Order: sequence, then C-alpha cells, then structure tokens
Amino acid sequence: MSAPETLSLPVAASVHEHAWVTESAHVTSEGRVRYVRCTGCLARRVDLDPAAAMPPVRLSREV
Ligand SMILES: [Zn+2]
Repeated sequence: MSAPETLSLPVAASVHEHAWVTESAHVTSEGRVRYVRCTGCLARRVDLDPAAAMPPVRLSREV
C-alpha cells in the first residue's frame, strides 16, 4: 500500500486577498457605512466603521 499524495490544497479562484475599494459611503448613527467592491473578483461587501467611541479630549480649560 503506497501513501496517497494528499496535495489537495484548497486553491480556489475566490481565495485571494481582496482589494477593496469604497464605492460609496454614508454616515449613520452606528458609524460610517461603506459599500466596498473588490477590484480583483468583483465581490461586494458592506463595511461599518464604528462611530468614534471617545469624544474629543479637552486639552486646556476655557479661556
Ligand atoms: Zn476579491
């Protein structure tokens, strides 16, 4: 019995590093919603950039 050659690496066309580009974006109360598209395979995705959790920090007192 010979050892089977198990070189079945899952190399699919869809496995690549997506190069997302933002097609459009708009700001919601949850943050900024971005509609992105991959320039390599035309996959689409919706990203959410969470709203800034921290308000601006005051560095000096009012003068
Ligand atoms: Zn892609």
